[in-house]
Amino acid sequence: MRHARQSAPFECCGLLIGDESAIVDLYHVQNIASEPRRMYSVDPDAYFHAIREARSRGLQVIGAYHSHPGSLAVPSPTDREHAFSGFLFVIVGLADDPPTVLGWELIAGNFAAVPLVKTA
Ligand SMILES: [Zn+2]
Repeated sequence: MRHARQSAPFECCGLLIGDESAIVDLYHVQNIASEPRRMYSVDPDAYFHAIREARSRGLQVIGAYHSHPGSLAVPSPTDREHAFSGFLFVIVGLADDPPTVLGWELIAGNFAAVPLVKTA
């Protein structure tokens, strides 16, 4: 949420590090999209760096997060276009006050909500 607020009116993005059951950490990544007000793109170098870093901690890159500065935390058509299965997509929607943070996963071509539970 902090990263999303700091980046507005641009979309922020980052990578989620963890294992099969939990998000353990997150890495802020620069949004290198050509139109960062309405889309995000993760710098590939940062992505590979995150993979190596996660592995060294016995973890994996399990997903990515990004923000919607002017809309809700639901996937946009652009998000749908670039999504793939087996990955957690977390979206921060700044249109809500307080902002909402929702998890999504692509299952059989459609986004399904993934419940996020704060444990610590
Ligand atoms: Zn989006």
